[in-house]
Amino acid sequence: MNSSTQIKKVAVVGAGIAGLSCAVELQSFGLSVDIYEKSRGPSGRMSTRQMPEWSADHGAQYFTARDPRFIEAVEEWIKNGVADIWRPRIRVFEDMVWRESHSQEIRYVGTPNMNSPGKFLAEGLSIQYDKTISQIDRRKDQWVLQCTENGEIETAYDFVVLALPAPQGSALARDIDPRISSVIDTAQMKGCWTMMAHFPHQVPPEYDAAFINGESISWICQNTSKPMRQGRPIWTIHGSPTWSQANIELSKEEAQSQMLDCLEKLGFDYRDAEISMHRWRYASGALEHPIHFLWLGDISLGLCGDWLNGGRVEGGWLSGFQLAEAIIESQESAPSRT
Ligand SMILES: Cc1cc2nc3c(=O)[nH]c(=O)nc-3n(C[C@H](O)[C@H](O)[C@H](O)COP(=O)(O)OP(=O)(O)OC[C@H]3O[C@@H](n4cnc5c(N)ncnc54)[C@H](O)[C@@H]3O)c2cc1C
Repeated sequence: MNSSTQIKKVAVVGAGIAGLSCAVELQSFGLSVDIYEKSRGPSGRMSTRQMPEWSADHGAQYFTARDPRFIEAVEEWIKNGVADIWRPRIRVFEDMVWRESHSQEIRYVGTPNMNSPGKFLAEGLSIQYDKTISQIDRRKDQWVLQCTENGEIETAYDFVVLALPAPQGSALARDIDPRISSVIDTAQMKGCWTMMAHFPHQVPPEYDAAFINGESISWICQNTSKPMRQGRPIWTIHGSPTWSQANIELSKEEAQSQMLDCLEKLGFDYRDAEISMHRWRYASGALEHPIHFLWLGDISLGLCGDWLNGGRVEGGWLSGFQLAEAIIESQESAPSRT
């Protein structure tokens, strides 16, 4: 057997932070990796909406870094100009009272946008965008993928990694193996209504962001307070997980109207506001007891994503990274990093 036939092929489904970190690590050990992503670009929920006159991070707002491996990755992003520390003035609103937040947490954001670290990781990876994987089948010890847009994908893969939110992973894999359904069915992910808005009559408040407790809204943030943001001042406003999930089937107009009622309570002047709404069906949620990732070596199938590892950006990145390490270790003679 020549060396090229020995190179293992991996299909990663999903180019969010988990799929990207997994792919980078697998590729660095010499595996051949193809990523399939249903959207037009990388980063998944670490996303930024780009409009002609403004842009706004409408998924993840910031991330923290506690694990040394993730800290190292974030330092690399900072060195390459795709992330930076954000030092917002933060307030808390609860029981109709505003107070200062005394949190000392170090918060990072992508620069110039939240999707910049994902774009950075995507450089040098083989990613096919606008490809929604609709089915995966195991045939003769290999995986064959079907995609909604083009039918069966020609390449057969030695390994498949599903780097997807639990419900989307479930649609592809829950019937393949009971070990998958038993994990995936216990993850309860909640939706999130997000409003991006320009308030022309709003006097800029003396805070950059605020946690709102006990209301339909849970977070408000001035995007331009983050490093390297340009354009019209835009607020990103998230509905709380509980309110959003209970109201996820509302029309955009109805959800907007309820969120504006809450903003009025917070003292916002929303006359003549320009508003864009986004419905996240699977925004947050994680297993009660994190398992980091799921690797089924006997059928060469792995699952990673934030929901397996505590939720959030750091959990997602680590989940993908750790799954890659497990796949590499599972090889009889582990290849060395190239
Ligand atoms: C509104 C909101 C606010 C948040 N705030 C924060 C925060 O402040 N701090 C924080 O740390 N985290 C926050 N998060 C969570 C954070 O964004 C996620 O934890 C992290 O981005 C998850 O990464 P992931 O790779 O696991 O999943 P995702 O980013 O969801 O990536 C999955 C990818 O798979 C793709 N995909 C799905 N189905 C298919 C298919 N069938 N075929 C091909 N591709 C497919 C999707 O398009 C997506 O790109 C927030 C999330 C949301 C939505």
